[in-house]
Amino acid sequence: MRCPQCSTTDDRVVDSRTVDDGTSIRRRRECLGCARRFTTYERLEEVPFGVVKRSGRKELFDRSKVVAGVRSAAKNRPVSEAAMQALAGEVDEAVRLEGSEVTTSQVGMAVLERLRALDPVASVRFASVYKGFSGLDDFRREVGQLSEVSRPGEVGGLGAVGELTKETAPK
Ligand SMILES: [Zn+2]
Repeated sequence: MRCPQCSTTDDRVVDSRTVDDGTSIRRRRECLGCARRFTTYERLEEVPFGVVKRSGRKELFDRSKVVAGVRSAAKNRPVSEAAMQALAGEVDEAVRLEGSEVTTSQVGMAVLERLRALDPVASVRFASVYKGFSGLDDFRREVGQLSEVSRPGEVGGLGAVGELTKETAPK
């Protein structure tokens, strides 16, 4: 960082602390040329990112909506708040790599892939809302995909899905 007094670009950090609820870091620096002290702030770069909805309308990607969707799908399931936040963070990173804007279904699929590994039951619930199942075949396909990733004997695994299937898709 160039010294505001003598333009030397060498400095040392004498103090560093997080401020603004942890959203930025304040650094107190000392110029190695003239010993002048100055302050810099480091903040996360928030790049606006567009999501195209089914209706064709665009809105900015909102990580908290992903968390809300997952929270509702994972109601009464053993999925921690921290895990939901982490999942939303991963989805945020992943969809940004797809381009400058994505569709809601791309976001939904990114959530689904991760939720499936986290909690199969929650992922089926999530899928039924976000993929807009057209019929029972879609539901069966989703449950089929589920059995590929579930390990036998896993708590909350296929047994619970069986119950869900009975209740949601009666024969
Ligand atoms: Zn200086």
